[in-house]
Amino acid sequence: RERKAYDARFESAVTTDSHRIEVCANLGNTAHAKDAVERGAEGVGLLRTEFIFMAHPDAPDLDTQISEYREAFDALGHDRPLVARTLDVGGDKPLDYWPIPQEDNPFLGLRGIRLALTRPEVLETQIRALLTAADDRPLRIMFPMVKDVAEFHAAKAIVDRVQQDIKAPDVQVGVMIEIPSCAILAPTLAKHVDFFSIGTNDLTQYTLAIDRGHSQLSAQADGLHPAVLHLIKMTVDAAHAEGRWVGVCGELASDAQAVPVLVGLGVDELSVAARQVPMVKARIRELSMADSTQLAERILMLPTAADVRDALEDM
Ligand code: PEP
Ligand code: MG
Repeated sequence: RERKAYDARFESAVTTDSHRIEVCANLGNTAHAKDAVERGAEGVGLLRTEFIFMAHPDAPDLDTQISEYREAFDALGHDRPLVARTLDVGGDKPLDYWPIPQEDNPFLGLRGIRLALTRPEVLETQIRALLTAADDRPLRIMFPMVKDVAEFHAAKAIVDRVQQDIKAPDVQVGVMIEIPSCAILAPTLAKHVDFFSIGTNDLTQYTLAIDRGHSQLSAQADGLHPAVLHLIKMTVDAAHAEGRWVGVCGELASDAQAVPVLVGLGVDELSVAARQVPMVKARIRELSMADSTQLAERILMLPTAADVRDALEDM
C-alpha cells in the first residue's frame, strides 16, 4: 500500500475527461531540483536564475553558472524539461553589484530583459552556461518582462549566436507574459516564440496598476480579476492558434480556486512551488475539462475579482 501511494506522486495530472495538464515546479535554487522531482514535479517551469546571481558577491562566471545549472539538469534527467528564465533584476529585485541609476518608478524602469539587454555580455555568458549545462537535456529558455517582439528578437539573437558558436542543439525559446502589451499582441508574438509562460504576479500588477508588494493595496492585486483572466484567455487562444503551448508560473497557478479557471481557459502547464505540486495535481484530477471550460466562460462575464471569488466559493 505504502509503495502504491508513493508511486501516485509520479503519475501525471489528467482530468476526468482525459485532458492532461503538466505540473512543474518553480525553483530559485538548483539544489532544490531533486526535491521537486521527489514531490512529483514533471519538470521545472520557472527557474528564477536571479537568485543564483544574488547568492554570489559578484556575477558568477561561466564555469560557476555551468555547475549550478548542471545540478538541476542532473536531477531532472532527460525526460523532464527545465524552463530557465534569464536574469530578471530591477524593480523589486535588486542586485548589489549591478547598481541601477535612481529612478522615480523602478517598476516602470530598467528591469527584466530591458536591463539585461544593456549588458548583453552578461546575458550571453548566462545563455552559454545554460546551453552547455543542458548538453542534450530539454532546456527551454525564457525571457522576463518582455514588452514586444523587438525585445524578444534582440534577446533571441544572443541565443542564436551562442548556439552557432558552440554548436548546441536547438532549444525552445519563449517569453513570459507579464506586461499587458504582450497579451494584447499575443497573436503576433506567438508567430515568433516557441511558448508563453504567464507571470500572473507581474501581469496582475501591471493590469490593475497595483504594486504587488503594497502594504495596503496588494490584497486587491488578485489574479482572478476578470481583466487579468481576459488577458490570459487572449494569450492562450493566440498561442494555440499557432500551435504553441502556454504555462502559468505566477502565484495564481497554485491557488486552489483558480486551478479550474486556468484549466478551463486552456492553459497547458501549471508551475508552482514544489510543495504545492501534489495539491495542484490532485485538484486537476477532480476536474472535467468540459465543466472547467463552461466555468471559465461564465467567470469571464463577471465584473470584479470579488464576484469571481464569490462565484467560485458557491460551487
Ligand atoms: C510573475 O511575475 O508572476 C513571475 C512568476 O515572476 P516573479 O514573481 O519572479 O516576478
Ligand atoms: Mg515577474
